[in-house]
Amino acid sequence: MIKTAPKPREIWFLTGSQGLYGEETLAQVETQAREISDQLDHAPEIPFKIVFKPVLKDSESIQESILAANSSAECIGLIAWMHTFSPAKMWIRGLTKLQRPLLHLHTQHNVELPWAQIDMDFMNLNQAAHGDREFAYIQSRLGISRKTVVGHVSNPRVLAKIDSWARAAAGWHEIRSLKLARFGDNMRNVAVTEGDKTEAEAKFGVSVNTWSVNELAQAVDLVEESHIDSLVAEYERLYDVAPELRIAGARHDSLRYGARLEIGLRGFLESEGFGAFTTNFEDLGELRQLPGLAVQRLMADGYGFGAEGDWKTAVLVRGAKVMAEGLPGGASLMEDYTYNLVPGKEVILGAHMLEICPTLTKSRPSLEIHPLGIGDREDPVRLVFTADPGPAVLVSLVDMRERFRLTANVVTNVVPEQELPLLPVARAVWKPMPDLETSAECWLSAGGAHHTVMSTALAKEVWEDFASIAGVELAMIDEGSTTSSFVNELKLNQAYYRLAQGI
Ligand code: MN
Repeated sequence: MIKTAPKPREIWFLTGSQGLYGEETLAQVETQAREISDQLDHAPEIPFKIVFKPVLKDSESIQESILAANSSAECIGLIAWMHTFSPAKMWIRGLTKLQRPLLHLHTQHNVELPWAQIDMDFMNLNQAAHGDREFAYIQSRLGISRKTVVGHVSNPRVLAKIDSWARAAAGWHEIRSLKLARFGDNMRNVAVTEGDKTEAEAKFGVSVNTWSVNELAQAVDLVEESHIDSLVAEYERLYDVAPELRIAGARHDSLRYGARLEIGLRGFLESEGFGAFTTNFEDLGELRQLPGLAVQRLMADGYGFGAEGDWKTAVLVRGAKVMAEGLPGGASLMEDYTYNLVPGKEVILGAHMLEICPTLTKSRPSLEIHPLGIGDREDPVRLVFTADPGPAVLVSLVDMRERFRLTANVVTNVVPEQELPLLPVARAVWKPMPDLETSAECWLSAGGAHHTVMSTALAKEVWEDFASIAGVELAMIDEGSTTSSFVNELKLNQAYYRLAQGI
């Protein structure tokens, strides 16, 4: 089971100062910085270990710390704070070698300025307002990408911003070493699921490679009947299994094959350490069913997945799973399917042939079997449910030829206005922000894909932080969007991201 990210993850807390202040002041700097680091470490809002590092006073120790962070498997990012004045030329050697996400925390130890007591010593000790400006200058001059957060660590807004960045850093860390298995190629003739896999590894770190679907089919055929027995019993406990699929039911064999698929696929992914995968209904080899239930359950366990060979969406699904660890809600492959265009009741119905992740609902899914017109195989088993109402974000990743683009839409999942008794697949119904017309105008203007990840656990800020860390364009459609300003933003982005690549 993959569920959680594999490694312990730490964020290192770096405090900048200099030798000029003398031992006594530097001891105070260290004590106070440690207090702040510990407060972050103990804040329930931030689910990562914050590790305090000794106060940095010179170029050598700064470079050493940053090189250590780069090569640490546990360190997912750095928080830096200049408690005092840290002459920033000392940071150049280190910062130019930085390969981890950076958050510049502009804080101070005291909340209130001690008006009546303040003297020169106090002012010299508590001068982040001064020191952090020097640090910010060199970061800007060197073009160092970072998130800047301002405020006292007792402020919940500050903690929320750090949490958002830390989650994004965890997602980034995961994708840097993610291995993705494609069973077969992309769906024939589809444009948006294509992409430059070499560039994806250079940009994101993810390694995307293809395996013959018949290698998977062999693993599926080797699954032992006794394992199938226990998985089928698990299905009975967790889902409302359709009578025809139950042990005495006429189509029980189809459910057993669904279980066989799940065990075989899971074993294949585990054996090579894959965290994400794709399938393609056009290339099922010796598989007897298109994997539906199996994919749904693997996604629920944290695997990234994309249908029709869509490895880019599979990467996003895995990233969303890791970034949302511990939060209520879920993440799934999603596909925009069809609209309700009745004025005032505009919604989008999203679904897929089968593969929607059950983490989108707290209700008990039903496990059913229905015919599937495409794929040319036996009827597949699948979980059927409707995503719970509540906020969500949809994100797509497309290859714009010379770069990647993320397009996102803030949406609200709603209870469908009527039952959907004949729809034999899991689905979500949502109102896009700011409204369907503007949302779709913007989405289409950006060339956003029909496949997305739907996350009901992550706020848009986490995706913004993720895009910033990755250095990838994010075209965000939210409550404030208008088509004209959005289209204008796309043009500016086009220019910026081309320039930012250099020659
Ligand atoms: Mn699709």
